[in-house]
Amino acid sequence: MAYTFRMPIKVRFAPSPTGYLSLGNARTALFNWLFARHEGGEFLLRIEDTDKERSKKEYEESIIEELRWLGITWDGDLERQSERLPVYERYLKRLLGENRAYFCFCTPEELEAERQAQLSQGLQPKYSGKCGTIPRDVAEKRAKLEKHVIRFRMPSHEISFTDLIRGRVTFDLDLIGDIIIAKGFQEPLYNFAVVVDDEEMSITHVIRGEDHLSNTPRQVAMQEALGFRVPVYAHLPLILGFDRKKLSKRYLDASLKDFRAQGYLPEALLNFMALLGWHPTVDKEVVSISEMVSDFSFKKVQRGGAVFNPEKLEWLNAYYIKNLPADILAERMADFIPSAWLQEKEKLKKVLAVEKERLKHLSDFEQLASFFFTLPEYDPAFLIWRGSSKMIAADNLSFLANVVRGIPNHELWSKEAVEKYVMSVAEKRGRGEVLWPLRVALSGREASPGPIEILYILGKEESLARVETALKKLGSAR
Ligand code: GLU
Repeated sequence: MAYTFRMPIKVRFAPSPTGYLSLGNARTALFNWLFARHEGGEFLLRIEDTDKERSKKEYEESIIEELRWLGITWDGDLERQSERLPVYERYLKRLLGENRAYFCFCTPEELEAERQAQLSQGLQPKYSGKCGTIPRDVAEKRAKLEKHVIRFRMPSHEISFTDLIRGRVTFDLDLIGDIIIAKGFQEPLYNFAVVVDDEEMSITHVIRGEDHLSNTPRQVAMQEALGFRVPVYAHLPLILGFDRKKLSKRYLDASLKDFRAQGYLPEALLNFMALLGWHPTVDKEVVSISEMVSDFSFKKVQRGGAVFNPEKLEWLNAYYIKNLPADILAERMADFIPSAWLQEKEKLKKVLAVEKERLKHLSDFEQLASFFFTLPEYDPAFLIWRGSSKMIAADNLSFLANVVRGIPNHELWSKEAVEKYVMSVAEKRGRGEVLWPLRVALSGREASPGPIEILYILGKEESLARVETALKKLGSAR
C-alpha cells in the first residue's frame, strides 16, 4: 500500500545516539526540516536508541543541543525508541504468529561455517533459512531456554519503491535472505523498529543518506508483510571529498559540536550543508534560511555525490561573520573570548567592527584582538621603521604624543579628529616614520587594523600610556 491519498506531510529525523551529530547527519536533518517547512508539514525528532550498548545519554543531549543551535526545530514531543519496546514486541509477536518471522538458534560458528561453504562455491553468502523449518511449537519451547534471535522471512521476489531523487528503484529480495530483526522481544533491531515507527507515526516521506539505500528493500518487504503504508523515499547523495573520492575521516567524523567549537556560525553551516546536494533555483552561493525554505524542492537535489569544499565553508563563514551587526557578533563571541572583554561592551563592539573583516572563524578573534584588551609585548627594535633610527622613532613618537595630548577637549574624540591630527604629523614627518612606530607602540603587531583606528578605539589616555611605554623601551634599546 502506498501513500496515494493526500495525507499531511510528515517527516522524521531519526538519529542513533551512538556518537555526536555528524555533518552528514545534520544535513539529513536539515533536508527533512526544509522539506517539512516548505510543504507546511510536520518534522518529528525520533531518537533511535535501541542499541543499549552503543547509545549514550550524552550523545542524545548533544544531538539535541546542536539541532537547537542550528535552529532546526521539531514539532511535538521527541520520540524515543527505548520507551516503545512493548510496541515492537506486539509486532514481533504478530510476525511470528503469522509465520513471517521465526526464532533462529544458529551459533556464530555455525553461521560462519555456512558462509564459508557458500563462498567456496562462488555463491553470495546469505542465511540458509535453516531454523525457519523448525516446527513452531518446538521453536517456541526452545526459545524459552536457548539463546536466539528473531529472523524475518524475506520473500524472494523483486521489490520497487519510489525515490524522489533516484526515481523508481528495484531490488531483488532473493539476494538478501532472512534478516535478523530482533535479538529477543526486548531488543528490536534498526530495520524492524524503523518500519514499525514510520507506520505508527504516519511518516509520509523518509529522507535520509544514501548509505541507507540498501536498507530500504528490507524495510519495504516488512511494510508489505505487516500491511503497512510504504512511504516515499529520498536518499540524499553521498558527501565526497574534493577528489570525488570518499570524504576524508577528518571531515566525515567531524561533528557539529567540533565545527561550533571552531567558531563556525550556524548560518554558515546551514547554508553550506544545504548546498551539499541541493541547488537553489537561481544559482548562487549565499542562501538565507528563509530562501531555502521557500525554494526547497527535491527536483533540485542531485543524485551524484556532493563535493565537500572546505574553502567554501570558510568563505561562507567569513561572509556571515562580516555581515553580522557588531552587537549580535559580540553576543556570539561570548564563548570565544575572556569574560573580562565582555564587560567592556562598547569597546568590544568597536574592535569587532574593525576586526570582523579578518575573521574566518569566531575563534580567530581572541588572538587577533588581544592587544586591544591587554598590553602588547614586543621587542623595542620593532618600533624602528626600516632604514630609520631609534632616535627618529623616539622623536616622532614624542612629538605625536604631544599632538594627541593637545587634541582640544571641545573637539570630540572621533575617528575623524584623530585622523586629522595624526595625519598632519605623518604628512610632515613621513608616513612610515610616524605610523609604523605608532602601530607598534599601540598594538605590538605588524599586521593589525590601521594605527589611527586603534588609537581611536583605545582612547586618548590608554594610547598615550602605550606611547610612553614605547618611549621608555626605546630609551633602553641599543
Ligand atoms: N537511526 C538511523 C541512523 O542514524 C536512521 C536511519 C533512517 O533515517 O531510517 O542512521
